[in-house]
Amino acid sequence: MVFMGITGCQPTVTAVAPPPTVLSITMITPSPHHPITPSPHHLLTPTSPPPSPPPPPTAVPTSTTTPTPTNTPTPTATFTATPVGACANRILADEDLWAVVTQHYGLSRDYAPTDLVSLNDHLSNDVTLGYPIELRVMAIEPLVQMITDMQAAGLKPQILSGYRSYSAQSIAYNKWATEFPGHVNIISAPPGYSEHQLGTTIDFGSPELPLYTGDPDLQFHTYFYKTNEGIWLLANAHNYGFTLSWPLETFELTGFYYEPWHYRYVGVEMATRLREMGLSLTQYQLTNQPEPCIP
Ligand SMILES: [Zn+2]
Repeated sequence: MVFMGITGCQPTVTAVAPPPTVLSITMITPSPHHPITPSPHHLLTPTSPPPSPPPPPTAVPTSTTTPTPTNTPTPTATFTATPVGACANRILADEDLWAVVTQHYGLSRDYAPTDLVSLNDHLSNDVTLGYPIELRVMAIEPLVQMITDMQAAGLKPQILSGYRSYSAQSIAYNKWATEFPGHVNIISAPPGYSEHQLGTTIDFGSPELPLYTGDPDLQFHTYFYKTNEGIWLLANAHNYGFTLSWPLETFELTGFYYEPWHYRYVGVEMATRLREMGLSLTQYQLTNQPEPCIP
């Protein structure tokens, strides 16, 4: 079943109600007694074998373009391992590139990145569609390089959303709660539970999307995976440090449905390792890291 999902994404799109058979979210329950694996937060090599990778999409997109990046940027972020210890020390800080965000593990109401940069100063309106978009500074250069390489490959990537504040997410959530009172937690992340608050997360668009949806006004749809922009991103985004946050079949773990347009900057090293393991960041974090002590 393919349907539109806009969880945590652009607050101003036209929504299509999710299927009526899905009315509740099943998520893992954090336990204060969860056994602690004595491994550093940022250890890239898991101390235990990684779980089986998620199954491939039920509909495999066919691609006519297999571009390769013309330039692989070097990661601009540096990482510091956090020692495992008391609960307070085991929480990845909100500003951490690998902070855990799901519909269960949230960010502080007060958290806003202090190093936001206007993306509109770096990319043309052809890409941003004129939306005022902000991102944290470390994601700017890799993103611009990726967009440049996509355009060189004949693609027309669009960026529909970036940083979204707690209050902006709150407005979006309330909007959806009014329109779809029984489904709001499926349609929109509650404030504090959207990766967009991190300032490192982007929603991509494609001018090809209406060819698949038949609706020129629909900017977010799972059919993004069919577009050439979606195909390219899935194959190449890790080379620039971006990873798909909400792949298929991870709903029970994250509370988020498949969002083929929603990518998060985590650095080239982590993004590449995640791709090699066939895991999303959240799958990796919740499986191989000590459980966050977030109520
Ligand atoms: Zn998004």
